[in-house]
Amino acid sequence: MPISCPDETTASNDSSATCFPVQNATESFWQTQQHPLSDHRSTPELPAHSDIVIVGAGYAGVSTAYHLSRDLGEAPSITILEARAVCSGATGRNGGHLRPDFYGHIPTYIERAGPRAGAEIAEFEIANLRALKRFIERENINCDFTLTRSIDVWCNEEAARKAKGIYDSMVAHDFNYMDDVVFYTGSEVDGICGVKGAVACASFTAGTMWPFKFIMHLVEKLVKSKQVNLQTHTPVLSVNPDRAGGFLVETPRGQVHANKVIYANNAYVAGVLPEYRRNIVPCKGICCRITTADAKESSPLLNNSYINRTDDNTLSYLVPRADGSIIVGGAAAKFQPFREQWYNNVDDSCLIDAVKYYYDGYMQRTYRGWEGTDARIDKIWTGVMGYSYDSNPHIGQVPAKENEFILAGFNGHGMPVIWLAAKELADMVTQAKPFEATSLPKLFKTSQARIDRAIMGQEEEGDILGNGNRPSTKP
Ligand SMILES: Cc1cc2nc3c(=O)[nH]c(=O)nc-3n(C[C@H](O)[C@H](O)[C@H](O)COP(=O)(O)OP(=O)(O)OC[C@H]3O[C@@H](n4cnc5c(N)ncnc54)[C@H](O)[C@@H]3O)c2cc1C
Repeated sequence: MPISCPDETTASNDSSATCFPVQNATESFWQTQQHPLSDHRSTPELPAHSDIVIVGAGYAGVSTAYHLSRDLGEAPSITILEARAVCSGATGRNGGHLRPDFYGHIPTYIERAGPRAGAEIAEFEIANLRALKRFIERENINCDFTLTRSIDVWCNEEAARKAKGIYDSMVAHDFNYMDDVVFYTGSEVDGICGVKGAVACASFTAGTMWPFKFIMHLVEKLVKSKQVNLQTHTPVLSVNPDRAGGFLVETPRGQVHANKVIYANNAYVAGVLPEYRRNIVPCKGICCRITTADAKESSPLLNNSYINRTDDNTLSYLVPRADGSIIVGGAAAKFQPFREQWYNNVDDSCLIDAVKYYYDGYMQRTYRGWEGTDARIDKIWTGVMGYSYDSNPHIGQVPAKENEFILAGFNGHGMPVIWLAAKELADMVTQAKPFEATSLPKLFKTSQARIDRAIMGQEEEGDILGNGNRPSTKP
């Protein structure tokens, strides 16, 4: 029986019961090379006190700890409490696609808040890609980072027409970054992108990487320098104000007193912050790795990453790897009607029934030249994303909760957001920097108004079904 988040009628009085990671999660390809620090505990017992406690050791929690450790210098007191192993959540089981959203969702944000607010998001995501590339090169991190072109593909005429309309309107706004986007229509499209039946495609600069290796590199640095006390297999059950000041962070292994708490537990945030139960909903996605026995000989090299949309508008993201294998996932349109299999569901110990065979034969039916290959699924897994009601993450001080901060709700799209978001959050925490003084897009600020809008079920405008892992969170 899948465990799910508390619903609106039960959550307010019982935040601790149900929204926690399950054990025995499916294993992703990225996790097959185990790391000695995966199950690390810096000390046998929990520290009695820590200046800052971070909940969750995924991309958001570990990056925040890294930036905090740089801000705080020699002897910071930071503790990371992680329910399972390090990087065992979405970050360790995603597509590895670092793909800024240049124009797909931007019109929705422009409609809600004006052109600058929309462009801010695209610019922030592009800045993330560049910052991450610089950092990975400087630190010489072995995480297969590749700067590439990402190709959007449409096989449905009507969807292609709409996409071209969006592209044209973004060009008309004269956003600088649109210079990097090339849009093709016409009879040669399927030759250009290699996808059978393609009627339109677009390309722009993006990245791909092995997220688990990147995170473990940061963890190694933090643990070695003793800047962080890492405690894996230690779920935070609740956070309560301490009468003497600060907070008591409760776990099954005892409590930690903290001056400040950072919630970086994404899909599961409602387990400890029930006010977010309608804003950040845990939703499952599926991903797999495809290999061919004769990779180099008979299957044409793919040197771009892709977002493919079939004639029936089923979307898949695809990342080719240097070893000849392919990471592919998505297919949300196929499982969306079966809500109990994915919506408000934290069970990543099993696949999504409706699509567990969808990627069988995917390369053969999708790509020119792959028809005769023996490409087949080598590994398939699920993961849990934090779908945000209005599609934007929640970042900043938790409304009406001084010294409690949130960095969560990445809507299946955290890779091009989290690195710089964590850097800015670290400054908010250590330097009391106001959100408005950061480089964060203003639509990312968590607020009571956003929380209330989701609780009251007000409709957000725009199409949430469209980018990578982002099916609509609306019933
Ligand atoms: C199948 C799949 C494919 C995806 N593909 C892409 C992609 O290609 N590109 C992209 O941009 N994004 C993708 N995403 C989304 C991306 O992985 C996430 O946005 C990102 O990893 C979120 O990072 P995080 O640190 O916030 O969350 P997580 O990595 O989920 O980390 C949260 C951590 O908190 C821990 N935790 C939860 N509750 C508690 C608690 N109470 N106490 C202690 N610890 C707790 C969890 O165990 C987990 O380790 C994908 C996600 C999935 C599932």
